[in-house]
Amino acid sequence: MASRISEIAINKLREAGFEVIVSEEPGEEELVKLIRDVDAIIVRSKPIVSRRVIENARNLKLIARAGVGLDNIDLEAAGEKGIVVINSPESVTLSVAELTIGLMLSLARKIAYSDRMIRNGLWVKKEAVGYELFGKTLGIIGFGRIGRAVAKIAKYGFNMRILYYDVMRIPEKEEIELGAKYVDLDTLLKESDIVSIHVPLTPETKHLINRDKLRLMKRTALLINTARGGVVDTEALIQALQEKWIAGAALDVFEEEPLLPNHPLTRMDNVVLTPHIGASTYEAQERAGLDIAIKVIDFFQK
Ligand code: NAD
Repeated sequence: MASRISEIAINKLREAGFEVIVSEEPGEEELVKLIRDVDAIIVRSKPIVSRRVIENARNLKLIARAGVGLDNIDLEAAGEKGIVVINSPESVTLSVAELTIGLMLSLARKIAYSDRMIRNGLWVKKEAVGYELFGKTLGIIGFGRIGRAVAKIAKYGFNMRILYYDVMRIPEKEEIELGAKYVDLDTLLKESDIVSIHVPLTPETKHLINRDKLRLMKRTALLINTARGGVVDTEALIQALQEKWIAGAALDVFEEEPLLPNHPLTRMDNVVLTPHIGASTYEAQERAGLDIAIKVIDFFQK
């Protein structure tokens, strides 16, 4: 296990007869040694399971990711060696959706900004006037598990109008239930007050939100990214925020993590930043660990 997963999950594996070695986020060198003779490895969004790591593994049959997102695993290298890759994506959906709503509120109501100011001795009542979410248009890019969970909270909690863009349209019955309208990406960007990103990072989604796309958004619009940093062109976003093409951004994920201490984004008042904590709740960690432990046990007991 190359990431800390819940004790309950570790116990479940031990009860099923597995010998469990725990090492928290080892570097590549250490991981190469650790993985050499094991049958399975469990990771989270870290460490990186590179081609080198995989090629040095003699017995590896399974790479299990507790949670969602497989971008830290070299899938091609795993495929070439016939190593199966699994994950437990359902477990973190609610946590990421709730953080997304939290970031929307923090940005729209300037909560993080007000907190920063007040700690600096500034009572910024006038500057902290914000917007309600109620009745606004929310554009969701990627209408999978998390996108739909966000839509549900936004619709039933804030009566928001939902637009969505995805490579696949959901059944009409579900669209009606969520009050969601399927549109193309450009329409979504032009019409939304808040745009929230929930696509995986793939060659097709890399820099999906670039200069041209940011230019389409309303000047009052807010951009939320709790998916993957690489979906947004950071340089373009910085320009958009500086030149006020859009009103603000809230980001849980970055092209390079951790974000460097003096990064331009850290110096902007209209930006809310969190350190990739979408899945970081006790509930999600417990579910992710337990789900993946059960899947690992099933895999070897078949
Ligand atoms: P999901 O697979 O259920 O949904 C992703 C959706 O994106 C799917 O409906 C898919 O059709 C769509 N999609 C894929 N490629 C597309 C493209 N090129 N254009 C338009 N739509 C496209 O995944 P999910 O569970 O909803 O998770 C979404 C993403 O959230 C993950 O891939 C992961 O990167 C990110 N995530 C972040 C955190 C965090 O800590 N911030 C935690 C979990 C997941």
